[in-house]
Amino acid sequence: MDGDCMKLTNHSFNEALLNYINQSPTAYHATYEAKQILLKKGYTELFEKDSWKIGQGKYLVSRNDSSLIAFTTPSPLTDGFKMAGAHTDSPGLKIKPNACKKGNNYFQVAVEVYGGPLLNTWFDRDLSLAGAVFVEMEDLTFQKVLIDFKRPLGIIASLAIHLDREANDKKSVQKQKELLPLLGITLTPNVSFLDLLEAQLVKQYPNLKFKKILDYDLSLFDESPAKIIGINEEFIVGARLDNLLSCFINLMAITSSTTNSLIVLNDHEECGSTSTTGADGSFLKDILLRICKDQEEYQRMIASSMLISCDNAHALHPNFPEKMDEAHAPIINQGPAIKINNNQRYATNLETSGIFTHLAQTVDIPVQKFSSRNDMPCGSTIGPITSSLLGVKTIDVGVPTFAMHSIRETAGIKDSFYLYQIISKYMHTN
Ligand SMILES: [Zn+2]
Repeated sequence: MDGDCMKLTNHSFNEALLNYINQSPTAYHATYEAKQILLKKGYTELFEKDSWKIGQGKYLVSRNDSSLIAFTTPSPLTDGFKMAGAHTDSPGLKIKPNACKKGNNYFQVAVEVYGGPLLNTWFDRDLSLAGAVFVEMEDLTFQKVLIDFKRPLGIIASLAIHLDREANDKKSVQKQKELLPLLGITLTPNVSFLDLLEAQLVKQYPNLKFKKILDYDLSLFDESPAKIIGINEEFIVGARLDNLLSCFINLMAITSSTTNSLIVLNDHEECGSTSTTGADGSFLKDILLRICKDQEEYQRMIASSMLISCDNAHALHPNFPEKMDEAHAPIINQGPAIKINNNQRYATNLETSGIFTHLAQTVDIPVQKFSSRNDMPCGSTIGPITSSLLGVKTIDVGVPTFAMHSIRETAGIKDSFYLYQIISKYMHTN
């Protein structure tokens, strides 16, 4: 989007957020869209295999096309970065390698459960397919190409109530048996799943000179777009609010800042973060070490930096208030939540909580505190992993959300804009 981001209103911010979510069905697309926003704002793309000469400027670098770091160089580097983090991936269903399943005259595809989706919500939705394919080109080079069918292709149909009388009382999901989406009536013999992908590739990129698809990484997604709903349009509903909402907040904040800022958008948070692109991998540390001239400068830079790790927080659900500690249960549209767990499931500490609270007060925005019940396990996120890996002081914050990991999550339109305003202020403060 164009224009000065500091002039965004609540409405224009949330409209742009919806657009980002709708254009980003997978971590690949979330990274691609982020890159486009940054390139339009004058960021220079760096590639890890090249030799770098980093001066004063605005840079971005991605790894595996599914994670991204963008930064504006501090001068001097020992002043540290105002860092903000989020994750590009969301729980869901990925297509298995030997996808085709034909039987009873139907064509289905085999899926693998990725992360921890709320599986009941995947039934009876208009599902589409997106991701990346790895192709051999006519000139014998290889390319990773993004693919998005952008239309409903199939459905995971429920069993009728008449055939499962206990469904409303005892419904559980058998992951291997019940999650196969129905894509159509049996394909013509000899037509494979790869043939369908090749046809889509030709449709999407008529001028792409490719020989064949070698492999794919595809996810199913709900084709219905994210929307603003509510009597007074107070809610955002959509897939992947966890955590594209935070990716977008960080993107908008860094594109309105001029110096000392860094955002890191990691893949693979939903499966534990241990990968080349995850928070528990080397990506951020590799980039920061490369920017600094030696270990001394690196350590001083880390000691002067802070990370705001943004990932959605559970909001108090009106139908289930007993699930939360009511004195520490964020309410939708009453401000972003600072997530606190003294057993270090969240990285928030005394200092970072104080700094964030002060930042919010300077822009007159309310914040809430989240602490889970003592008898309920607490989730975790990229904050504690990044802070222990780098030694950077960190706070975990998030926009209060219902139905986290559902195919359609709910958050508040005020909270997304509130968190953007706080992080923008942080990235503008020396
Ligand atoms: Zn998350």
